[in-house]
Formats: sequence, C-alpha cells, structure tokens
Amino acid sequence: MAAIRIALVGIGKIARDQHLPAIAANPDYELAAVVSRHNPGLEAPYFESLDALFAQGPVVDAVALCTPPQVRYDMAAAALARGLHVFLEKPPGATLAEVDSLKGLAERQRATLFASWHSRYAAGVERAKAWLATRAIHSVRIVWREDVRVWHPGQAWIWEAGGLGVFDPGINALSIATHILPRPFFLTAATLSIPVNCDAPIAADLTFTDHESTPIAMDLDWRQTGPQSWDIVVETDAGALRLANGGAVLTLPDGVHEGENREYPSLYARFASLVRARETDVDIAPFRHVADAFLRGRRVSVDAFVE
Ligand code: NAP
Repeated sequence: MAAIRIALVGIGKIARDQHLPAIAANPDYELAAVVSRHNPGLEAPYFESLDALFAQGPVVDAVALCTPPQVRYDMAAAALARGLHVFLEKPPGATLAEVDSLKGLAERQRATLFASWHSRYAAGVERAKAWLATRAIHSVRIVWREDVRVWHPGQAWIWEAGGLGVFDPGINALSIATHILPRPFFLTAATLSIPVNCDAPIAADLTFTDHESTPIAMDLDWRQTGPQSWDIVVETDAGALRLANGGAVLTLPDGVHEGENREYPSLYARFASLVRARETDVDIAPFRHVADAFLRGRRVSVDAFVE
C-alpha cells in the first residue's frame, strides 16, 4: 500500500518532540513537506505557508496541524477543501462550532478528519476504562498542577483568547476522564483565575457531576513549582483506581501497571487506519467541558503573569 504523503504544519515543540519521530518511525507515512513561518532546518521540502505548498509543492495526501488552535481552522478548511485528510492536534480548534464546520466539510469531501487526544493513548488508560466499566463509582478527583514556565516557555498564544490557558494541559485530563468514566458528566460550578494581563486562566477549580450525583472535582494550576501532578483518582466499591503521570502509571488494588509510552505512535497508527477507511474521528466531549467552564465559571482576577 502506498505511503500517505503527509505535510507537517507548525514546527514548534510538539511537532519536534513527537510528530516528527512518530512519522519517521511509521512506514505508512512519507514526510512530503513541512510548513513553517521560518525555515525549520529539516530534511523535508519546506514552505512558508499552506498556500505556498499547494501552489508550488509536491502532491500531499494529508496534513497534520501543530499550530496554535486559534489559527488552525483556516488551514484545516483549506486542506479539506482540496480533499486532503487532516490530523488536528488537541484542542481541535478555538471554538466548538468551527470544529463542527470542519466535520461537515470532511464529510462532504469524503476526507478524514481526526481530532486527536494524545492522552487517551497513555499506557494505563484502556485498562483503567475496562476496570471501571463494572465498578460503582463513588467519587473522582483530578489534579493537574504543573509549572507553566517549565512546560510552555515563550508560548504567547496560550495566554490569548482561544489559547485555553491552564485548560491546554487540563483538556488532556478531560480527554482521559471522558474516555474512562462509564457515564457522561457535566459541569456544575467553576472558578477561573485569570491574570490581570492575560485572556486565559492560570488556574481553575471545577466541579462536575453525573446522573448518579457522583462528585467529580478538578483542580488545575499552572503555578506549581516542585513536584508536578497529572493525577486522576477514582474511588469505587472495589477500592481506588489511580492514574498518575498523565495516564502512564495505573495503580489498582492489585498493584501498579506501567507500560511503554506510545501516545504519538498510536495516534499516527489510528490516523493511517482512518485515512485508509476514509473515516472521521471527532469527539468534542473534552472540548465541550472547557467551553462550559468558560460559559458557567466565575472569573477572578489574579496577579499578572510575567514569564
Ligand atoms: P509551540 O511550541 O508554540 O508551536 C506552535 C507552532 O505553530 C509555532 O512554533 C509556529 O511554528 C506555528 N504557528 C503558526 N502560526 C502561529 C501563531 N500565530 N502563533 C504562534 N505559533 C504559530 O506550541 P506547541 O507546544 O507545539 O503546541 C502546539 C499545539 O500542540 C497546541 O494545540 C498544544 O495544545 C498541542 N500539544 C502540545 C504539547 C506540548 O507538550 N507542548 C503536547 C501535546 C499537544 P512555525 O514557526 O513553524 O510556523
């Protein structure tokens, strides 16, 4: 079967750390082009914009968009309009409605649209989902506390409207929770702490529940120094389940289960199978919870953020 000729767009942290190695290691792909505002110094042919690629470049079958969410819609729409398959980094866009628009466009073009959620492919997640499926759930606590200066240096877009602020990592927790919990849940209250010089929150406290009145608490904070936390604890009738390190380490009453980190290789394997089948995979559930937090949450102003 011919390799999928893919163009990688937006050569920032995640493109270099994960997308380039995952594409290089997967024989289903040929890296046909890279699109970047600056020459990224890579082996593949380089273009300054998607328009330049479409006008002068090699034929491609697919694009993977690693740009900030605020600038992704136009790129995705232009690619889909040409019948190309599109891999979206998380979050899939800047608004819910624009993602819906892309989904409609993909369906009309019979092209694949993949809204990726890398944390769902963390080593402990599928086992956690299977274990929880038969348990009575008493409570859920999500703690995602990290140091923004370590993990997001120089990323001005993340503080601007549509950049999500602390929900940029927080949506990873929501992508896991919406996947492993057996019932849909919904927001009941939120407090968003927004630095006076930013559009997006640096911290958020959220409470959710479901039709069984399960208490679900979520604590997001970007001001964490020292040990970092990316943990989900679910108390059940059979004891506690703990997913740590962003889903990589699962602790069940019978012990600790750890596996290899294959998040991005798994995403690219999934995208290849969607492309071959001309199917679309767009689950907006994690993004909808973030939108609800902005709809329903109280805003409090906190100290200016200075990097
Ligand atoms: P980043 O380092 O800031 O890279 C984003 C890249 O997008 C920039 O380097 C730039 O590449 C391009 N770009 C195009 N238009 C831009 C604009 N108007 N403003 C800024 N950059 C623009 O960000 P990142 O950490 O890679 O994150 C990108 C996406 O991946 C986000 O949606 C994020 O949530 C997701 N993600 C990040 C991580 C992580 O660990 N960092 C993990 C998983 C997912 P060029 O200079 O090449 O044009």
